[in-house]
Amino acid sequence: MRTIYVDNNATTRVDPEVLREMLPYFSEYYGNPSSMHHFGGQVMEAVNRAREKVAHLIGADPSEILFTSCGTESDNTAILAAIQSYPEKRHLVTTRVEHPAVLNLCKHLMKQGYRVTELPVNREGLLDLDQLRDAVTPYTAVVSVMFANNETGVIFPVNEIAGIVKEKGSVFHCDAVQAAGKIPMDMSRNQIDLLSISGHKLHAPKGVGALYIRRGTRFRPFLIGGHQEHGRRGGTENIPSIIGLGKACELAGEHLIEENTKVRALRDRLEKGLLEKVPRTWLNGHPALRLPNTTNLSFEYIEGEAILLLMSKEGIAASSGSACTSGSLEPSHVLRAMGVPFTGAHGSIRFSLSRFNTDEDIDVILEKVPAIIARLRELSPYWKRQEKSLRSI
Ligand code: PLP
Repeated sequence: MRTIYVDNNATTRVDPEVLREMLPYFSEYYGNPSSMHHFGGQVMEAVNRAREKVAHLIGADPSEILFTSCGTESDNTAILAAIQSYPEKRHLVTTRVEHPAVLNLCKHLMKQGYRVTELPVNREGLLDLDQLRDAVTPYTAVVSVMFANNETGVIFPVNEIAGIVKEKGSVFHCDAVQAAGKIPMDMSRNQIDLLSISGHKLHAPKGVGALYIRRGTRFRPFLIGGHQEHGRRGGTENIPSIIGLGKACELAGEHLIEENTKVRALRDRLEKGLLEKVPRTWLNGHPALRLPNTTNLSFEYIEGEAILLLMSKEGIAASSGSACTSGSLEPSHVLRAMGVPFTGAHGSIRFSLSRFNTDEDIDVILEKVPAIIARLRELSPYWKRQEKSLRSI
C-alpha cells in the first residue's frame, strides 16, 4: 500500500539530494573538524559552508549561526542563555500555544522561582499585541513567541513583536522550527535576537538544529565542554547532519516559491474539498495568516484518534493535535487555548503537506476521508443524538 504522508509538521522525509550530500561524511571525510591536520581541516571547511547556507536562508551572517542537536535544544539554549545573562531579571513572557520545548522549560523555571506570563490567544489563534506590550516589564529577561504554530500553522507577527520587546529592553527569542524554509524570513530586517531552527522539519535528518544568535546578544553555552562552535557549544559536531542541514536550507530557499504556490494550492484544495464534502466540519486557526502547508480541521462528534487509525489503514498518515501530544485523549493545549468547542476539539486532524505531495495524494484523501468520517459518526452516540435533535427542529 502506498503511504500518503501528510504529517510534515511532525517530521519530513530527508530529501534525496540532502542524503547524497551527507553520505561521504560518514565514510570518506570522517575527520574531527578540531584536528590540526588537513583531514580535519577539510571537514571544518565543509561545516563552514553549511553554516553559510543556513545563514543565507534566514538573511543572517554565518557567524550568527550555532549548530545544535534539535529544535528543543535551540529553544532551551536560547531561553536559558537569556535568563543567565540577566540574573537580576526573574520574569519571562511566552504564549499558551508554544511547543512543549518552550512551555515545559518555563514550567521548570517557575519551580526555580521565576515568574512566567503565558499570553492567551483568540479563537483564531492570534495574540493581542497590546496585551503583550503590557506584559513586558523592566524585570522581563526574555520574551519567547513562536513564528508559526505547529498545530494550526497560524503565523504570529514576530517582526512587530520583536520591535515591541526591544523597545521594552528585553531579549526576544523566536521558535521558528515550523516556519523556517516554509515562509521567507530576513534577520537583517528585523530585531529578533535568538531564533530556533530544526533540521527534520525541512527535509534534513533528525538530530540536528540551529540557533541564530544576533551579533551582540549576550550568550551563555548550554552544553559546557570543549571549544567547539567558537566556545558556544561543547561537543564534537554531528558532521553528516550539519552538512545535511546546510543542503536542506539551500534547497528550502530554492523551493520557497513552490512552497507558497504548489504546496499552498494542494493544501487549499484538500481543505476546501473536506469542508464541502463533510458536514459539521470547521477550520481551526486564522484562514489567511497561516503556513502554506498546514490545515487543522475539526470533525464534530468523533475522536481524532479513531479517524487517524482508519486513515492509517488506508495508508494516509496525518496527526491529531501535535505529534508530541497525540496518544493522550485530552484535546491539545493549543486548541484549548483557542477555545475550540468541546464537540470538535476531540475530532481535530492536522494535515501538513510538503513539496513531495501530489495532486493524486489529495484525490485519495478527498475520496477516503469523508467515508471514514461518515462511518465513525454512524457509531457515535453523540452524533446520533445531535442528528435526532436537528431533525426535530
Ligand atoms: N518547536 C516547534 C514549534 C515544534 O513544532 C517542534 C517539534 O515539533 C519543536 C520546537 C521541537 O523540535 P525538535 O523535534 O527538533 O526538538
